[in-house]
Amino acid sequence: MKITLLAGGVGGAKAAEGLANSRFAEHTKIIGNVADDDEFHGLWVSPDIDTLIYSLGDQIDRQQGWGRKNESYQVLGELRAFGQETWMTLGDLDLATHIFRTHLRRLGVSASEITQRLAMRHGVSMPILLPTDDVVQTRVNTPKGWLSFQEFFVREHCQLDVLDIEYHGVEKATPTPSALEQIVHSDVIVIAPSNPIVSIGAILAVPGIQQAIEASSAYVIGISPLIGGKTVKGPADKMLESAGKSIDSKGIYDCYTSFIDALVIDESDKHDAAWLESQGIKVLVTPTLMATTEDKTRLLTETVEFALLQQ
Ligand code: GDP
Ligand code: CA
Repeated sequence: MKITLLAGGVGGAKAAEGLANSRFAEHTKIIGNVADDDEFHGLWVSPDIDTLIYSLGDQIDRQQGWGRKNESYQVLGELRAFGQETWMTLGDLDLATHIFRTHLRRLGVSASEITQRLAMRHGVSMPILLPTDDVVQTRVNTPKGWLSFQEFFVREHCQLDVLDIEYHGVEKATPTPSALEQIVHSDVIVIAPSNPIVSIGAILAVPGIQQAIEASSAYVIGISPLIGGKTVKGPADKMLESAGKSIDSKGIYDCYTSFIDALVIDESDKHDAAWLESQGIKVLVTPTLMATTEDKTRLLTETVEFALLQQ
């Protein structure tokens, strides 16, 4: 049996941990998002991939959901003293990851290979594949103009209106053979409760990826990132709105219509189930807030079992 998890950062990592702690762990590979990547202080930072690795390696700051636990910020303090912009909070331990990644990139090592080496260092056994080894970067158009994703997300705290979103470089990007092969041979594809526009959308936008999912015989099941019609955290609501989607389970379904077989929605959204079923997909209604390890394991186990039962 082969299971694929499409995952962004925080919501994606929670789902990845749920699978890693489930009886499906050995059957699962993750496809992560690289479109939040950016350069800071000359270093290449890949926030969503690092969130996956730090979470699965139990090195994540669990209160924040990102960054390393037991972190310090001496280097950032020095950079500030040099008059550098330091709104992107990069801790000392985290910076070592970015130095290592940047060094290997300069040697010509692929992003996929670097991800593998970082995962190995943190004892992460669940494979993390990338949709592409090329550089694709999400940009957000706002009343202040086009911003990089991190400028919008971190520097501007998602406060600005979202007028438009683009995945810069995506047209020329090539999908990795490993991601395509994984999708084609999957029995179940789980879409994590990640931001459907900038996390999952950026994976799907790599030429060939969405087409492979549509062509695959895998059962595709998504977990909604909305609970009670609201995001748990982050700008998914604004981004759904800017893409002309409604901020509810229907809006999530709209992002995945061409390939989704089932959607997992929270109990507080169960009023959406009838409409979703009328569209010809299956619906699993269950608590979807993943606060504890048990929550993550239960939700992902239920999700995969539901998919396997439908096949
Ligand atoms: P990011 O890359 O760090 O922004 O994280 P993702 O794109 O992977 O996930 C962001 C989404 O995760 C947000 O839209 C949240 O609503 C959703 N999310 C976070 N925690 C949970 C949770 O425990 N349950 C559900 N259902 N959604 C969650
Ligand atoms: Ca992200």
